[in-house]
Amino acid sequence: MQQAMHQAANAAQIGEVPVGAVVIDADGHIIGTGYNRTITDHDPTAHAEIVALRDAAARVGNYRLPGARVYVTLEPCTMCMGAMVHARVAQVVFGAVDPKTGACGSVLDIAAINQINHHTQVAGGLLAEACGALLSDFFRARRAAIRAQKGKRPLEGVVPILPNVSLPQKDVPPPQPDVSLQPDIPSPQPGAFPPLQGGDSS
Ligand SMILES: [Zn+2]
Repeated sequence: MQQAMHQAANAAQIGEVPVGAVVIDADGHIIGTGYNRTITDHDPTAHAEIVALRDAAARVGNYRLPGARVYVTLEPCTMCMGAMVHARVAQVVFGAVDPKTGACGSVLDIAAINQINHHTQVAGGLLAEACGALLSDFFRARRAAIRAQKGKRPLEGVVPILPNVSLPQKDVPPPQPDVSLQPDIPSPQPGAFPPLQGGDSS
């Protein structure tokens, strides 16, 4: 897990949310490393675990990593747990829990779904405090930097969240109602219905 934390520190250095992962083979050797680089790579799948799994699979020349263990500083999400199941990872050990997207018991529990064909064992809470501190320190520093720079030029390395960003419009005609779905009801003719009698319509 110490190695995974070093990987997380690499992410923080390039302005990415600090999550790191390492893959260990059945003999205890590190065969893959990775850290979160979604913003850098413009890649929503570039979570630390996916990057580390790709690294390991390329290194051993096999898309499956039977007997492997993955150490990751934050509870994996559904995508990463899915990838670990596909890679036949034997065990995942995570540090801090992720109450927003964690798929090892926090929000979902992928390992507990019996219908899935391979079961990756899960253990959580290893060096949880230190792993969580990496994240809280990162966000605290980022908030402080944003406060300090408020009203000044945008921070280097910090992607500003722009309101109302509109994508370039292609020359697409506005959508037309699908007349084929309209019931074939003739328009009422004037006088077709008798006027309402009495009553208070308000
Ligand atoms: Zn993930």
